[in-house]
Amino acid sequence: MGLRENLASIQQRIAATCQRAGRERSEITLIAVSKTVPADRLREAIQCGVRVFGENRVQEAAAKIAELGTEPGAIEIQWHLIGHLQSNKVRRAIELFDAIHSIDNLKLAERANSIASELGKRMPVFIEVNLGDEPLKTGAAPGEVQGLIEQIGKLESLELKGLMAVPPFPDDAEAARPFFRALRELRDQARASGLAGESFNELSMGMSNDFEVAIEEGATLVRIGTAIFGARA
Ligand SMILES: *Cc1c(COP(=O)(O)O)cnc(C)c1O
Repeated sequence: MGLRENLASIQQRIAATCQRAGRERSEITLIAVSKTVPADRLREAIQCGVRVFGENRVQEAAAKIAELGTEPGAIEIQWHLIGHLQSNKVRRAIELFDAIHSIDNLKLAERANSIASELGKRMPVFIEVNLGDEPLKTGAAPGEVQGLIEQIGKLESLELKGLMAVPPFPDDAEAARPFFRALRELRDQARASGLAGESFNELSMGMSNDFEVAIEEGATLVRIGTAIFGARA
């Protein structure tokens, strides 16, 4: 299947899931995860209506943004950083991206805050949570999340939007469900306790194999790569 058919099928499945779950389609943002995908294919995706791309490497994204983002009259595209952020790439990331999903410790948040402040930008960010406490994975431990929400929420040049996670067992949607639910509970807990600001309401969760379950459990952004662009090389 081509890109246009893939996208139509994803859109249809998102809409059907919303209907089943009693949610509005407008609550969910589709992020087309375009890591490793060449700029030509992104241009095609834009023609098919994609407006938000997710990239996991700053360098790779910079090249695509330069190629696609600077044409006169270009359609307004959002770029989200969904991959691990190294501290030496923070400045470039803040210059380039519209949101960063992978803030996972206070030191990184403070660095992002001071650079955003220097650049006169208020940067939308998400806290990445390592829900399974997997030793080799990035993300804050669930037990640290409430403290991070409180501390990051005070940084004036960051706009804390919500939480992000990649659960263990990404190939098994039902196995991911308790993790999606756990992420939602962490968000709800922060909102209920008044720790979080008004803008803290988003859940970035769900990928090609499990986005429907993620939407059922409250996702507000789904990050879909393979099901749109095909298998990565
Ligand atoms: C690659 C990636 C995705 C997309 O995964 P697919 O299974 O191809 O949909 C989503 N989120 C993150 C953080 C990723 O690195």
